[in-house]
Amino acid sequence: MTRRRTRAAGSMLLVAALAAGCASGEREADLLFLGGTVVDGSGADSVHADVGVRGDRIVFVGDAAVEGIVAADTLDVSGLVVTPGFIDMHSHAELDTDHGRDARAFLFQGITTVALGVDGGGESDVAARMERWSRDGIGVNAFLYVGHNAARRAVMGMEARAPTADELERMKAYVRKGMEEGAYGLSSGLFYLPGNYAETQEVIELNRVAAAYPGAIYDTHDRDLGAAYPPFGYLKSIAEGIRIGEEAGTKVIFSHFNAQGAHNYGRAPEGAALIEEARARGVEVAGAHHMYTATQSNLRSYTIPSWAVAGGDTAMIRRFDHPDTVRIIHRQTREMLEIRGGADHLLFADERPDLNGKTLQQVAHEWGVPPSEAARRILREGNAAVMNLGLYDAWNLRYLAQKPWMMTCTDGRDPGPSRPVTHPRAFGSFTKKLRDLVLDEELITLPFAIRSMSGLAADFLGWTDRGYLREGYVADITVLDLDEVQDMATYENPHRYSRGTVHVLVNGTFAIRDGEATMALAGRPLLRGGAVYEAGAGGG
Ligand SMILES: [Zn+2]
Repeated sequence: MTRRRTRAAGSMLLVAALAAGCASGEREADLLFLGGTVVDGSGADSVHADVGVRGDRIVFVGDAAVEGIVAADTLDVSGLVVTPGFIDMHSHAELDTDHGRDARAFLFQGITTVALGVDGGGESDVAARMERWSRDGIGVNAFLYVGHNAARRAVMGMEARAPTADELERMKAYVRKGMEEGAYGLSSGLFYLPGNYAETQEVIELNRVAAAYPGAIYDTHDRDLGAAYPPFGYLKSIAEGIRIGEEAGTKVIFSHFNAQGAHNYGRAPEGAALIEEARARGVEVAGAHHMYTATQSNLRSYTIPSWAVAGGDTAMIRRFDHPDTVRIIHRQTREMLEIRGGADHLLFADERPDLNGKTLQQVAHEWGVPPSEAARRILREGNAAVMNLGLYDAWNLRYLAQKPWMMTCTDGRDPGPSRPVTHPRAFGSFTKKLRDLVLDEELITLPFAIRSMSGLAADFLGWTDRGYLREGYVADITVLDLDEVQDMATYENPHRYSRGTVHVLVNGTFAIRDGEATMALAGRPLLRGGAVYEAGAGGG
């Protein structure tokens, strides 16, 4: 295969790398993985090679014995697969909390980098957040988007109207601040509030601000993934996302791309065709997905029409108390529940113990009220985390997994022990994709799947020294035992780490060694373009 060329190129890099770090000029690395099967993230076939790491860099890929490479720390990884660390392109990892900071749920899937600030939620204080991460430590690398919903909420609250010229300028300033401080682009959650109150043109205007920065990305959670109420249209929604990127001049990535609702089962090819048409005319459009058929979001978004939330929760509750208004809400909630498969398909992942693990149907039954009334009663006390079971179609998911532009994400958060029932995706998305689609079903090849988790994302993000297992690249490395790779988390028992992740290096430091978490907080905040955020450089 490409072994000889790799080795020749490697020797030059190696000499430079070793000379820089080693006074005597001996051929020495800090760490050697010996005898593994290397899948490099490019989609190319695997090769047998040793991998050397010095500091935070990969300094050698080749035959260590032939090249005379030695290391103080040598691990036999024969029979194991050595890959680039995985990139979670749509994440809700709770790196800002004590329980989530180490990101173990993610590391055990082989993930070494997460995208945050998604769904329109990213705040403009990018540098301040990165500064905190630098100070407190984080278990994985992380990068940020600045969000349309966050900008709109900061400037206009929950107002259901177009912005004034002045408000639009202030939203633009919000986005500009985030971009100046290193955000990767604009994220939006047009399905969610208050993003849903915006017309397309408003998002284009804000995305133009992002587009002024090289490599800017528009990350979209669509207005209607298929289950919105009233329907905007699954295909129309994809077209809107493409248009926002195309007119503003940014790349576009569709978050957790799939078609929602039983009425959309089997319809993924139609949405994929829109993306492929855009790609054919030169727009850089891609998607990311996970392997579960359930979604997780919040009860208000799933059961209350957006007009009834205009002005915020207090205004919403006032509408609940108005007899004529609540009659309309009641009817529309029933229609919304129907689109989502019924109240027995909404499973609470909320921290309230009287809700967690029950369906809306069960709660309504206990209370002796219709599900729509139970939903309103819960929302009076505050919004609730809820899953929507069976919203995605397993066939659609498999169709999309074969697309060369499809990356991988968790869309997950590990909420800690306060929520016994939560979505298993935070614990098993990547390992489930490998187990189900590569190993059991042989639907996609291992190099193709690994690329969807690493090199494909790195290219899209514009990185030049991460995402591939190559000499000179940052040593974010995952070592897998394919016989053991398995997602363990289920809907009933979600807090279970994946198996088969033998070693994980984050920036050259072991985060998992011999299957055990080291609790090292070796992750770094990554600025747009891929550079590491230097502590003390900005925020505070
Ligand atoms: Zn989302």
